[in-house]
Order: sequence, then C-alpha cells, then structure tokens
Amino acid sequence: MIADEPAAPLGDIFRRLIANTGPISLMHYMGEANARYYTARDPLGTAGDFVTAPEISQMFGELIGLWLADIWIRAGRESPVHYVELGPGRGTLASDALRAAKRYGLEPSVHLVEASTALKDVQLVTVPGAQWHADLSTVPMYGPVLIVANEFLDALPVRQLVKTAEGWRERMVVPEGERFNCIAGHQPMDAAVPEARRDAAEGTIIETCPGAAATIYEVAGRLLEQGGAALFIDYGHDTVRDGSTLQAVRQHLKVDPFVNPGAADLTAHVDFATLAQIAQSRGCKWLGTVTQGRWLRELGIETRADSLAAVAPQHTAAIQTAKERLIGEGQMGLLFKVMGLAAPGWPDGVGFNG
Ligand code: SAH
Repeated sequence: MIADEPAAPLGDIFRRLIANTGPISLMHYMGEANARYYTARDPLGTAGDFVTAPEISQMFGELIGLWLADIWIRAGRESPVHYVELGPGRGTLASDALRAAKRYGLEPSVHLVEASTALKDVQLVTVPGAQWHADLSTVPMYGPVLIVANEFLDALPVRQLVKTAEGWRERMVVPEGERFNCIAGHQPMDAAVPEARRDAAEGTIIETCPGAAATIYEVAGRLLEQGGAALFIDYGHDTVRDGSTLQAVRQHLKVDPFVNPGAADLTAHVDFATLAQIAQSRGCKWLGTVTQGRWLRELGIETRADSLAAVAPQHTAAIQTAKERLIGEGQMGLLFKVMGLAAPGWPDGVGFNG
C-alpha cells in the first residue's frame, strides 16, 4: 500500500473476512478496531474523543511521581533505575511525574511502550530523552523498574464467553445490516471458563482479558527479577463480576461499539481482582487496589491543589474543578481504581493501607 493512501474502512475488511472464513471472535474484532483507532490519531483531550486523568490536571502525574520517588527512596535508592510507562498517550503523565520525582533525586532512564505512531510523535516532544518500545520485552533487564499504566489495560481486547443450552461458547461477531452483532460460536469453550463459574445460568456472559493477564504476568516477573514497583490505574472492579462491559466512546459520548469499527475507542472494565491474583501467584507483592479518589487524597491532592492555587490565585476555581473531577464520587473518584504491585523485598506504598 502507498503510504498516504487511505486504508479501506475496517468494517469492509471485516465483512470480507467473515464472508470468506466465518465469524470472527469479539476479541479479534476489538483488537483490530483499537489497533486501527490508535495508530491513526491522537484521541485525547477536549477536541478529541475522551479526556484522561493526566490531561485533566498536572496534579495527577505529579502525585504519581511522588509515589514512585517515595517507594524508591525507602527501598534504598538503587541505581540504575528505569521509569517504564505502558500506553503513555500524549506523554503528559510521564512529564509531570518525572518533574516531580526529580525534586526528590529520582532521575530514572525513561522507557515508553507505545503502539501508536501518531502518539509516539507527540511523546517525542513531551518526553525528550525517552526510549521507545513496542512491548516490554526490550526494556532493560537490569536495575529496578518503576512501571506506570493509566487507561492502558482497558484498551486491550477482551474475550467474552456466553453460557448457552449446549454449554459455554465464545461470542463471535457477524455483520447485521449496517452494523455488526454478536452470536454464540460453535466451538465448546467450557475449558476457558474458571471452574467456580462454570455452573452459571444460561445467558450469563463472562469477560476475560488475556492481554491484561499477560501484561501483569510479565510485569510481575520483571519486579521479581529486577526489583521495583508498579501502578495500574483504570476503570474497573475489584471483585469478579458477570456481564459485558464493552463500550465505545467517540467525541465524549458513548456510541455503538458495533458500528464503524476503528472510528471509536473500544474499552472494557478492568478485572482487578483477577489481575491481583495473577501477580501474587507469581510471588509479587500486591500492595492493594483502592479507589482513585481515596488514593489521591491520601497522597495529598488537597494540599497540592491549595499550593497551586496560592501560586496562581486567578486559577483557583479551575484547579478546584479539576481536583473534583479526579476524586469526586460521581466523577472519576469511585469508578477508577489504583492497583499497586511491588517486588517482594520492597516496602509498602503510600495510599494503600488502612
Ligand atoms: N495513558 C494515557 C493514554 C491512555 S489511551 C493517558 O492516560 O492519557 C491508551 C494508550 O495505550 C494510548 O497511548 C494507546 O496508543 C496505547 N495502546 C493501546 N493499545 C496498546 C498496545 N496493544 N500496545 C501498546 N500501546 C497501546
């Protein structure tokens, strides 16, 4: 394909593929749709499709930087040390976190894991001196890693399984008029369902995210081998649940995930309960999973907001509004969770106790 030639709509490609080879899994549909979606554009900010916490206020990234510096100092200030961010978006979080960490003597090498060329172009400007990676495998193997991921896991494709009269089946995607729809596949999938959940009522849907599980498994392995700590921030639940949480967002509105794939951001709730189990089963320390509101409050967001307002009194109202968006119960404060992990010999992290 010529570089500038516009790609065929993904929906057309799916239709051809399904006509030739049969229904595709929902996981395949979501994975391809998001790969197309992120590669082509910077979706963040008020002019884009959605706004994330680091884009709301510098306080978010700064408090993450302080958390990392604190745990690294209490672990003995080991060097070299690496900051690793998964899906760094515009690089805003990295830039705010690294600036705050530097005030406490933490100046790590910086590694950004990013799949989107459009976003990497933005990060080249906002995080000068970083190194880029397609996945975790090429990140340095020596020295502690401080790993951060905000709204990364929710973009990874989920597999959905549905209980039918014949047993568990994978949810597959087929065209239906202008849109697509889900049907139950033919292949028995009982083995993919955790034993404790197999007896569910007919019609029950369960969602798993193999990509998120693999990410946590790999991160836990790095923490064990190299030392370090990790923060995963995302919207999701900390108890295992049934049902589909797939949704699509475009221009700040929820849209139909089965119309025009590749044009909207597809996400699913993160199953933090399962991810914590995976990390612990590998011998990693789970520091806890708490709501974003509580975590930011315990890290001192109120004090930080007051001191920012003292320096720029004309922005007091905007600073307070941003703080409220991050910690307010009806806003991001309850729905978003922060999960902390650390290497076995590392101390507990601020914000997870009590
Ligand atoms: N963390 C940023 C951006 C969140 S959007 C913020 O909070 O603003 C999701 C990010 O994950 C984007 O940077 C996107 O390009 C990246 N991403 C999505 N799927 C990915 C994958 N499979 N591998 C690497 N990066 C991915």
